[in-house]
Amino acid sequence: MNSLKKNFRDISPYIPGEQPQVKNKIKLNTNENPYPPSPLVKKALSSFDCDDLKLYPDPDMTDLRLGISEYYGVKKENVFCGVGSDDVLATAFMAFFNSGKPILFPDITYAFYDVWASLFKIDFCRIPLNDRFEINKEDYYAENGGVVFPNPNAPTGVYMPVSDIEDIIKHNGDVIVIADEAYIDFGGESALKLIDKYKNLVVTRTFSKSRSMAGGRIGFAIADEALIREMFTIRNSYNSYTITGLNSKLALAALEDEEYFKDTVARIVSTREKYKKKLGELGFVFTDSKSNFIFASHPKYEARELFEALKKENIFVRYFNLPRIDNYLRITVGTEEEMKKLADFLENYIKKG
Ligand SMILES: *Cc1c(COP(=O)(O)O)cnc(C)c1O
Repeated sequence: MNSLKKNFRDISPYIPGEQPQVKNKIKLNTNENPYPPSPLVKKALSSFDCDDLKLYPDPDMTDLRLGISEYYGVKKENVFCGVGSDDVLATAFMAFFNSGKPILFPDITYAFYDVWASLFKIDFCRIPLNDRFEINKEDYYAENGGVVFPNPNAPTGVYMPVSDIEDIIKHNGDVIVIADEAYIDFGGESALKLIDKYKNLVVTRTFSKSRSMAGGRIGFAIADEALIREMFTIRNSYNSYTITGLNSKLALAALEDEEYFKDTVARIVSTREKYKKKLGELGFVFTDSKSNFIFASHPKYEARELFEALKKENIFVRYFNLPRIDNYLRITVGTEEEMKKLADFLENYIKKG
């Protein structure tokens, strides 16, 4: 075995949140949507023709790109799709971060960025968020090999105004800026309106959170045509068939049901605000999350202790044993019923303690 070791890639992988296999759990640890996908998705699934599986999917992803481009008022040539936005982001890293200069992203952010940077041998520099966990735009004006950040940020939920994003883009005309908008549907304004104006902006999105299709693995990017062509070049140098015909149909069905989408997002936002208030009454402090999770800390109880206590009750939340955030819990906004169980448990725990 030892003689083989030198052949292996030495890298610390991204560790996804647990998918516990217990029954009757309350799962608030991976920012999944608590509601099912639109009934139109179910209909599309049941009418799928199994014979279609014989064929390779359309390498241009024409139908899905057209559907997404119509929905967002852009051209098909501005759209790239992948197996979740993780695939889209990884493709963008490979396509755009090749200058040899370090790319910049926040110190507290989506934990996949540094893993991809390491995997693709891209130098990177983590820029500290301020004390309120906000991105300070001026920090990104320094010379760099590219910029990437989620907006709202993860796992903090903190939203950056589009005017700040525009300033970052303007100061980085020679490199690519990626705005990872995995959570933008839950609040805040999208940077999509800047796509026409700036040739160096890539906006990534996902069907995993606001459209309840994490299991479908569908993500996409919107950017200038020239950038999208570069992303296709990378994909076709690696794996040409990422979006299956089935996934394409399911995603298109989800886009058809605007009413269901708006309704479920509104329910999550209203539950989020209600339980921010409730957790505040229990003494928790938290950021003004504009996403589908609450990032909360209690001044008297250690986050790890609360995480373990909740887990014993089969209530799963996310705890990160990382600098600056090791006393925070990231709690995905579930249904009203799930959130009530979480809040009731915490209230009792805190009363007893
Ligand atoms: C969830 C998430 C993604 C990836 O989602 P996919 O399921 O791969 O589409 C990307 N960025 C951030 C910040 C996320 O939280």
